[in-house]
Amino acid sequence: MLRCTQCDTLNWVGDSQCLACGAQADLVASVMKRHTQNTADFLNEQMEASRALKATERAAAEVRSAQLIAKEHARLEALRQQLLARKAEEKKLLLVLVIGMSVLLLIALLITFL
Ligand SMILES: [Zn+2]
Repeated sequence: MLRCTQCDTLNWVGDSQCLACGAQADLVASVMKRHTQNTADFLNEQMEASRALKATERAAAEVRSAQLIAKEHARLEALRQQLLARKAEEKKLLLVLVIGMSVLLLIALLITFL
């Protein structure tokens, strides 16, 4: 990790510019700074970077699980809509059947009693 000389944000070594402020990554300045730091500073910085990375990973995992939950909700909602549509279709079919049977019964009654 390299610390931005402008805003102090930690960036990946390969990045050509700072993620936060867009300043050009100054590899030489960053290395010089590291050599002027003492070991405790360096370790503190590494621990801070590690904590920041863990927090980023945790946030990404939370985003992923939220996306999965949203996807599952959408799937269940689509399923529910399908079931409602099928139920409505079945109701319609049943109504047609009942009307048809009633007409047949009426015709049978008319034939029998007339
Ligand atoms: Zn910066």
